[in-house]
Amino acid sequence: MLPTVILHNLTFEIFLTKEQIQSRVAELGEQLEAAYADRRPLFLGVLNGSFIFTADLVRACTMDCEASFVRLASYQGVASSGEVTTVIGLPDDLKGRHVIVVEDIIDSGRTMNYFLQQLGALQPASVALIALLHKPDAEQLPTKIDYLGFSIPNQFVVGYGLDYDGLGRNLPHIYQLKK
Ligand code: IMP
Ligand code: MG
Repeated sequence: MLPTVILHNLTFEIFLTKEQIQSRVAELGEQLEAAYADRRPLFLGVLNGSFIFTADLVRACTMDCEASFVRLASYQGVASSGEVTTVIGLPDDLKGRHVIVVEDIIDSGRTMNYFLQQLGALQPASVALIALLHKPDAEQLPTKIDYLGFSIPNQFVVGYGLDYDGLGRNLPHIYQLKK
């Protein structure tokens, strides 16, 4: 295991090993199995950050389930309202489905608050949010996380799907910005 990695101009140090992540993912899989037996949930991964977490999570569950992905695109609007987000790839047949939204990390909470609002309009039977990581100290909008991997300090992290300016998604462990 590399104790530190350099991405672009920044140095990151080991924070969670792949073994720690895998054992937590296995526990989360067991919880989901107990909660969703016979409900055939739809896992909805949020790209790009959750692609690895989602892939591991669905394989930690043995019940019948489906998996799909959405992408949330942000851009700077012309008005002073700032950032606007659009959902790409939302399945249109979510009515009556049990949806499990899979997110890599909840930081300010803005992304999930926006997305869960959009999702609710499609009348799913239930919506649960699972996040691998949460930074409680960065929270600006309260977010109800139903299943959580790890609560972490307010430090930038990379690896296991998460990137720093495009790099680091392929790292098997999670690294934290070195102070
Ligand atoms: P929020 O809207 O502020 O909660 O931001 C959530 C999104 O920002 C996540 O889905 C990530 O894509 C990205 N993000 C937030 N914190 C980090 C981090 O520490 N490393 C990498 N990406 C992050
Ligand atoms: Mg994300």
